[in-house]
Amino acid sequence: MDIARLTEVTAQNLEYAVKLAQKMVQTPSLSGQEKELAELTRQTMEQLRFDEVYIDEVGNVIGRIKGRGGGRSVMFNCHLDTVAAGDPAAWKYPPFAGVIADGALWGLGASDTKAAFACQIVAAAALKEAGMLPTGDIWVVGVVHEETSGFGSRYLAKKLAPDVVILGEASDNQIKIGHRGRMQFDIYFKGKSTHASVPARGVNPHFAAARLLLQIERLKMQADPFFGESSVAPTLYVTDQTSSNVTPGQVVLSLDWRNIPGETEENIRRRLEQVVAECLIPGVTARIELKMRDVGCYTGYKGVAPAGEPSFATPPDDPIVLAVQQALAAVFNREVSIGVCGFATDGGHFRAEGSKVIIFAPSEERYCHTTEDSVSIEKMREAILGNMALALCLGAENC
Ligand SMILES: [Zn+2]
Repeated sequence: MDIARLTEVTAQNLEYAVKLAQKMVQTPSLSGQEKELAELTRQTMEQLRFDEVYIDEVGNVIGRIKGRGGGRSVMFNCHLDTVAAGDPAAWKYPPFAGVIADGALWGLGASDTKAAFACQIVAAAALKEAGMLPTGDIWVVGVVHEETSGFGSRYLAKKLAPDVVILGEASDNQIKIGHRGRMQFDIYFKGKSTHASVPARGVNPHFAAARLLLQIERLKMQADPFFGESSVAPTLYVTDQTSSNVTPGQVVLSLDWRNIPGETEENIRRRLEQVVAECLIPGVTARIELKMRDVGCYTGYKGVAPAGEPSFATPPDDPIVLAVQQALAAVFNREVSIGVCGFATDGGHFRAEGSKVIIFAPSEERYCHTTEDSVSIEKMREAILGNMALALCLGAENC
């Protein structure tokens, strides 16, 4: 790897990348409304001479730069969508202005994941432009609906699961290799409603739910040396009544379950079934449902997906992780740490299809989804350099 040349190419492309990230921030892209940003991405990739660019039926933008042949395929993956801005007055700089100040780009989605995406697109194109293509193909994709359900990546992973996926979620230019997952289980307790003056005529499901709450508080969770413990938290509690003088016929208790890698939906469901069965009282039945949500894409495509994200883990001693760490340390001329992500991402969808997944991006977790959403331009420079090094190293026949 010619580090001096990569550093030079990075310097030539930084300004373009910052402008592109700025344009992305200026293009609102709530989940389900990513069309304009998808079009901007497609045009940009075409202008930058990607070999293939298309938008799939759910609205993901997929760009490909062909390698020289052989080698691993590498996908750089970011999401197009953002959460809502909330009250614009609460922002340090207006959320859609794309202000550049204090050495950073500011605005909604800058850190999650627009600046990272610009750095990925530009790095891939720059390698082609500079005649430094790796042997393997480079894919750069912008997916829809990450914030709601990971629907874009769920859909894409079934069609395109390359050897390695570099996910552009906040890592502060270090490496993250996995995270806990999130699932929502809704427990429906069904009893018999009655007037509150004669409770004995009904069967009140509150009492079964209360027993379950006490059990949940004591539940022994699974643990992993790297990812810590899984956790479960009761969150919503809804009854089918609006009057305070009628007992409910049904209550629904929602559990937010953060699973560690290896703890599957099946495992959790079996444990819950056991605990719930112990909490039933005569006349009350229960059923457990994994919460699903409807997803509507800007293309008109409709689907459903679990309300949550799967966990994933790439072992810290995996040769790919070590190669990534070495490549980044070499071009950054500093130590690069390996850690886990505090939040959930789209990584698990690709891991489930056999890809190895690494998280690498210039943004910092502490600014994501905040009114101080921003990314340091110096870190963007480092990320362009890092992305090029990763494409070259991972795309080689042997690295
Ligand atoms: Zn994100």
